[in-house]
Amino acid sequence: MGNYQVLIVGAGFAGSEAAHRLAGRGVRVGLLTQSLDSVMMPFLPPRPPFPKGSLLEAAYDPEDPRVWAFHARAKARLEAQAPHLHLFQATATGLLLEGNKVVGVRTWEGPVARGERVVLAVGSFLGARLRMGEVEEEAGRLSEASYPDLYEDLLRLGFRFVEREGAVPDTPTTPGYRVRYRAFHPEEWEEATFRLRRLANLYGVGLCVLEGDYARMSEEGLRLAEHLLRELG
Ligand code: FAD
Repeated sequence: MGNYQVLIVGAGFAGSEAAHRLAGRGVRVGLLTQSLDSVMMPFLPPRPPFPKGSLLEAAYDPEDPRVWAFHARAKARLEAQAPHLHLFQATATGLLLEGNKVVGVRTWEGPVARGERVVLAVGSFLGARLRMGEVEEEAGRLSEASYPDLYEDLLRLGFRFVEREGAVPDTPTTPGYRVRYRAFHPEEWEEATFRLRRLANLYGVGLCVLEGDYARMSEEGLRLAEHLLRELG
């Protein structure tokens, strides 16, 4: 897997938004995500207002609010950013380190993915448990598993976390459920620079570092992209 200027783990709202903006400005971006079928996949249909000029705004179609259709439009726009953007399926299982510097991630599939800067945009998938009625499983979203490896690796490296919870109400087609997950402890993350301070070259964005709705996650993705563009000069 290529050596990217920015390697982003997690193609949700924050990660996809950041990747889309960076690639649009000519940065070589790797966007690694555990399932291409859930790129920028909402729990419930997004509702405006959205950040101006965002991927979220571009992928929204008021005539077709189905979450799968929204996901397909967002994914097509990301794929259209090739060759600057490489969107690919892999599950990050741990950070790849050279001393105190993060140089990429290890993956469940085997090959490592390298980046000069590494961004964790893993949403509600760290140590996640989904509860629906009496049933509980390791998942960060309905039908999407949350594998323990990355979270366990971050714990081993000394990162501290807080517990968070999100809920999806009943809809006409799906029963409601709750997801309990871990987010980085606020002291691990620096809001102005997105840095996860414990290690060099490591950044965090989205629900794994703060709370908010889709529009907020998208805004944060854009803010990260602008910050990295300044760093990259
Ligand atoms: P996500 O959109 O969850 O994206 C994270 C991505 O990272 C996923 O695609 C996942 O597959 C990938 N990933 C995770 N771990 C790995 C790994 N190890 N390797 C590779 N890829 C990985 N906000 C709203 O505005 N409306 C709602 O209805 C709403 N409902 C919510 C319901 C729940 C249960 C929760 C927890 C939150 C909800 N939110 C909602 C809040 C928030 O806006 C969403 O969670 C949003 O999806 C977060 O964006 P994100 O980019 O941080 O993470």
